[in-house]
Amino acid sequence: MTSFREFSQACRMIEATPGSLEMTSQVAELLKRVSPEELPIVTHFVMGEVFPAWSSQEVGVGAGILYAALAKSSGLSVNDIEGLIRDTGDIGETAVKALAKRSKGQATFSSFMEEAPDISIHEVFERFQAISRSSGKGSQTSKIKNLQYLFNCATPDEVGYIARLAVEDLRIGVGEGIVRDAIASAFNVPVATVERAFMLTNDMGLVSITAREGGAESVEGLGLQLNRPIRMMLAQIAPTIESAIADIGEAAIEWKFDGARVQIHKDGERVSLYSRKLEDISGSLPDITASIRKYVHADSAILDGEAVAMDERGRPRAFQDILRRLRRKHEVDSTAKEIPLSINIFDIMYLNGKGLIDAPLVKRREMLEGCVENGDSIRVDRQVVTSDPEEINVIYTEALRAGHEGIMIKNPQSPYSPGKRGKNWLKKKPVMETLDLAVIGAEWGYGRRTSFMGSYALACHDPKTGRFLPVGKVATGFSDEQLSELTAIFSDLIVMQSGTKIELKPQVIFEVAFEEIQKSTNYESGYALRFPRLVSVRDDKSLEDVETIGRLEEMYRLQRERGINPGSAEVGGK
Ligand code: AMP
Repeated sequence: MTSFREFSQACRMIEATPGSLEMTSQVAELLKRVSPEELPIVTHFVMGEVFPAWSSQEVGVGAGILYAALAKSSGLSVNDIEGLIRDTGDIGETAVKALAKRSKGQATFSSFMEEAPDISIHEVFERFQAISRSSGKGSQTSKIKNLQYLFNCATPDEVGYIARLAVEDLRIGVGEGIVRDAIASAFNVPVATVERAFMLTNDMGLVSITAREGGAESVEGLGLQLNRPIRMMLAQIAPTIESAIADIGEAAIEWKFDGARVQIHKDGERVSLYSRKLEDISGSLPDITASIRKYVHADSAILDGEAVAMDERGRPRAFQDILRRLRRKHEVDSTAKEIPLSINIFDIMYLNGKGLIDAPLVKRREMLEGCVENGDSIRVDRQVVTSDPEEINVIYTEALRAGHEGIMIKNPQSPYSPGKRGKNWLKKKPVMETLDLAVIGAEWGYGRRTSFMGSYALACHDPKTGRFLPVGKVATGFSDEQLSELTAIFSDLIVMQSGTKIELKPQVIFEVAFEEIQKSTNYESGYALRFPRLVSVRDDKSLEDVETIGRLEEMYRLQRERGINPGSAEVGGK
């Protein structure tokens, strides 16, 4: 059994390591060292997650609970804890400082014994399980007690990492990329095999234990599983129809429906639906579930589609209307009547026990048409295979006239690549360029808006380190109503506050328009946005959708090459 102390020591070393290669080898060492039972837990922990990405389970500890637990364990007041947060700027360091000041009267194991007892990695995980499971009346107290137990057992070195894990933000610079490479090197499995298994299972812990126990062959065997969502295949921007044809040649053209992505798993009579963020949204879409049961003629299938809401004139309704349906737990039926949805199915990844992701799109399309009957609120829409730009342009114009976003230009020979944004799916839409960025901070407003958080700090993603790099702030484009809603949402995501400044756990994505990308030394990304404004809060997107630093670099380069500003140019959508 490995102690949490050893894990903390490894984290400290990794945190102090500057290069990602060296970091990868340290993570690999750690993964090799722990026992098989601990391996999945450690794999998740080292990336700052407690539960696998596919699971809807979360620790569920906000700043309030964490501060209260720290106050109780240290004998300090919540105010003192907030003061420490302001000084240190980090929840981990705050925990270390607070508990170093533990008053003599505090009953902790470490104050009674020369050495704190070695709490195991497993025990820490079990406590997080207990915290995550407590719900309803008394859950606050139970969460605080469990955290207090952990703090009281831990040495000063460990408390920092416990506090950071509690908010699922370990801050040691290890992201998915480093863990993927570390698993590959520790257990001698090709990186691409690890990557693919992760995209199919969404569970790095499962991938690492499989790699350790069965090597590359077993990892290759990890496949699609009904009722567990796989990552969605994503699309790249096509600047023009001609450039898309130059890239793909003869292409499969479909309308790009203006709605929300839904992945459908049919397992006999059971139908599970997942959002683009891979959340289980089955409960909120009874109309779609019923259509799938009736019109999908297969024992089992995994399908990909876009849910669309139409108005009386047959045009797609605002995206925000669809969002009102997606995660609804109450008044599901009345909202379904108010905002009826239909689903356009455009892909199939699994049919009657057989995975299809490696089959070319043409073949998948054949299977799709073979098992889905068009009926009320469900259809497989038209797909035209052509290399004629004129013909494609006509389809594009029709799609726009119908109120949809544009077209998808797909490579008919391509496999379904989960989680990949490659050249096999291109999107062409005429709107201005926008960026999807993570909100990592905010400021309390002033004047009329003192009780609202405004001026949101935005960040892009660095896939190498898993860190979010600031690119600027957005303070325009918000209605009062929106600010009040956002303030409520962000209140649960506060990591720390100092004066009017707030640091937020990255979770919410803003789609932001702007005039220009500029080089900047003010922000860690090295870039800043000129005149950013909020276009929409992308409730349907997750942190994986956040633009990467590489994409910002590319947009900056393109902007310079073209000598035009991307915000106003006809260069296709996001
Ligand atoms: P974007 O959200 O701009 O990255 O564009 C890709 C999104 O378009 C997908 O995630 C789908 O939600 C949506 N979409 C609409 N129609 C289609 C289609 N026919 N094929 C693939 N994706 C589509």
